[in-house]
Amino acid sequence: MNAGYNTTKMNQLWKIISISALIFFIAAISPAKGAPQDEFNETAFASKRKEMVSKQIIWRGVRNEDVVRAMMIVPRHRFVPKEWVLVAYDDTPLPIGHGQTISQPYIVAYMTQILNLNKESRVLEIGTGSGYQAAILSRIVKEAYTIEIIPKLAESASLILKKLDYQNVKVTCGDGYYGRPEHAPFDAIIVTAAAGHIPPPLIGQLKAGGRMIIPVGGPFMIQNLILVEKGNAGEITTGNLMSVRFVPLTGKHK
Ligand code: SAM
Repeated sequence: MNAGYNTTKMNQLWKIISISALIFFIAAISPAKGAPQDEFNETAFASKRKEMVSKQIIWRGVRNEDVVRAMMIVPRHRFVPKEWVLVAYDDTPLPIGHGQTISQPYIVAYMTQILNLNKESRVLEIGTGSGYQAAILSRIVKEAYTIEIIPKLAESASLILKKLDYQNVKVTCGDGYYGRPEHAPFDAIIVTAAAGHIPPPLIGQLKAGGRMIIPVGGPFMIQNLILVEKGNAGEITTGNLMSVRFVPLTGKHK
């Protein structure tokens, strides 16, 4: 009798222990009350972004504080298609549809650093793509203009930049070879598609003392990342920075 009573008590005790353990386990793996699942993802993405900046950007020599800060705050995962979100912070370019790519994070940071931007700069980008490079520029400069030739990409980039409230970026759809003469001159111009030659209209829209960075070369050839500098008297000098691989600058120009 006593033994039966003890067994019932023991069973009840085990039940209480098991239920408590289960509640504790569920509480441990569930999001805290009031915190939406997204917030947890954002925390995970922020930590991936931090790792990207230290291992891919700073370690390789990009030390400009404004560039590093911009790379730390712009959510790259918001600029890639859904299927690539989990690898958004990997050390690689990624497809963004329409046969185009978002550039490797290091290349974005490197090209931005070369432009010597500050909070008063007005910058023009040719090749909006996902809008990520434009977003990085916008966190550093006063005004960023960006041109994309594929209407769907111009539309989606414009949408995400608006969602993130990056108000100082203006996206237009068109052939960037001709720049944006109505907003020229620019302190800096960045071209993110490979051109067969340096477009004369872009040289014309660069301010005296300004800088342009542009990949030059054919799609199946070695392309060179060229720094173009316009002196105070309007003289042009160019220098080759490194070999790169970009999608081609398209459009009607020859
Ligand atoms: N900067 C982009 C980003 O952050 O995602 C990546 C740019 S992707 C490497 C090159 C982009 O240049 C493509 O979206 C392509 O459609 C665009 N492009 C090519 N030729 C162009 C032209 N003539 N005018 C404007 N955009 C052009």
